[in-house]
Amino acid sequence: MMRVVIEPGHGGKDPGAVGPNGLCERDVITEVSHFLASKGGDGIEYILKRRTAFPSLAALFAWMSRFKPDVILSLHCDSAAATHASAIVWCYDPDKDRYCRSALLADTILAGLCSHIGGPTRVLTAPYLRRRPDGSTYMLLPGVLRGRALRASVLVELGPMHPRMAEVEWQSRAACGVDAGLRRWVKQEEV
Ligand SMILES: [Zn+2]
Repeated sequence: MMRVVIEPGHGGKDPGAVGPNGLCERDVITEVSHFLASKGGDGIEYILKRRTAFPSLAALFAWMSRFKPDVILSLHCDSAAATHASAIVWCYDPDKDRYCRSALLADTILAGLCSHIGGPTRVLTAPYLRRRPDGSTYMLLPGVLRGRALRASVLVELGPMHPRMAEVEWQSRAACGVDAGLRRWVKQEEV
């Protein structure tokens, strides 16, 4: 059984990016996360916790570590001002083996998203610590989880905020795309 922790990037009082029509990243990600969590079975167990606020990184790591996840999927959307057309998957890890597996997972998730919500899509790699324009930092997951069962960790940006992201059909398809990509990667891992 592959244990996958879904980390909704925002929740509760933390709205994340806000689109031009008032649509919040938090609300899109919450729905996509629930659709994704409902797709467990057939060798994959999804674990999702609703976020109530922006937790401290330590609290977030402690929560995720409890489950000894094989995979961590962080879900986000970008601000509407983002210049890329569609999904981006970040993978980052100081551990070389895990970095390679994460990069493969990023590829298969992008392919899944491409076939479910359209492309173009691309993979970016980044250091595991990323800085926001305001100077604050976020996403330090793998370094803290080093030494645990974690096999791969990626951050999925589903694309710049767009009104269609409010549609249940889009949210469901996005979740299907991530799930399809993850399952393809799991098959490769098992070979
Ligand atoms: Zn975000």
